[in-house]
Amino acid sequence: MTVSRADVLRALELVKLPASGQSLAASGRIGDVLIDGGKVIFSIGIDATEANAMEPVRRAAESAVSGLPGVTQVLVGLTADKAPASAGMQARQQAQRPSPGPGGVPKPTGVPGVKQIIAVASGKGGVGKSTTAANLAVALSGLGLKVGVLDADIYGPSMPKIFGIKGKPQVVSGRTLAPMEAYGLKIMSIGFLVDEETPMIWRGPMVISAITQMLREVAWGELDVIVVDMPPGTGDAQLTMAQQVPLAGAVIVSTPQDLALLDARRGVAMFRKVAVPILGLVENMSYFICPECGHQSDIFAHGGARHEAERLQVPFLGEIPLAMPIRETSDGGRPIVASDPQSQHAKAYVALARQVQASLGGATRAAPRIVIE
Ligand code: ADP
Repeated sequence: MTVSRADVLRALELVKLPASGQSLAASGRIGDVLIDGGKVIFSIGIDATEANAMEPVRRAAESAVSGLPGVTQVLVGLTADKAPASAGMQARQQAQRPSPGPGGVPKPTGVPGVKQIIAVASGKGGVGKSTTAANLAVALSGLGLKVGVLDADIYGPSMPKIFGIKGKPQVVSGRTLAPMEAYGLKIMSIGFLVDEETPMIWRGPMVISAITQMLREVAWGELDVIVVDMPPGTGDAQLTMAQQVPLAGAVIVSTPQDLALLDARRGVAMFRKVAVPILGLVENMSYFICPECGHQSDIFAHGGARHEAERLQVPFLGEIPLAMPIRETSDGGRPIVASDPQSQHAKAYVALARQVQASLGGATRAAPRIVIE
């Protein structure tokens, strides 16, 4: 038996708003209701100032809908969609604030047990962002770090496929899920919760609340770093996310063509707006070496990202070749750094990971203590 939007709203009639006593169903605060078999996902629109007061309502909504026949899982987020300003406007307004720092806007709180969170982002889809994120994560783990991967590419989650993971995460307690594991990494993806074939239509605020939940309601344990595979693009949802996830830095992936670089530039500008350090630019599908004759072909005009990095004054992190084994292993659930660590291709990712590790080390180095005698 499949639950419908009407069933969900009926259940929400029993949930009352604390201030007015009005039912949540009648309040007009329920956004799109995404239903996938037994899973129900929706958001409650709030004013940003109501976040604490509405948390019990969110919980009550979740338990009311969980009780419906046929419902196996419920994800409810509070979003400031119905606040005086739209979420997009808020993101823009917040982005115009001064950089975080003493006296500035407070940074989002960290995730307990997780030392650093980095984003792998791209200005547009299809440039190899997820493949880079996955191989970077495996390479960081090979350097001795404890690594998690959060697949925030909610429009096209690809980590289940790249890591060859089937099955669903287990609930550890209450609302907390255990991450899945592969190649020594802890991995969470919306793809574990929603079937691959289900088309997902997300409004910006829902994206953010789903991602925040995946970050904060997963038992990550002690980790040195979580690599976040961001949704592609530089829209309001991405901007708000860049702001709401406590990021230590961002790696921007681009292919060398002018158009892709133009998008990468927007990516750099987006992270700068919200004062997230740019760890650097990676050129993916940089050049092609013919496996037959060894000849190098610069299919997409190699070198563009290096120049762009210079122009933007951000570090250039390296070039990853366009190579059949990278595609085959990535699409086959065995990222190349794990399945063929001695290959040249894997070494390109390890070099990238070393650079990222070095810049993160720099970012977190404690300030020298000044001792006055
Ligand atoms: P994005 O996350 O940017 O949408 P993906 O990582 O999903 O991109 O990559 C898109 C496609 O390109 C996938 O089939 C992937 O295997 C392939 N791909 C990514 N990087 C490379 C590369 N360096 N060489 C060959 N194929 C690649």
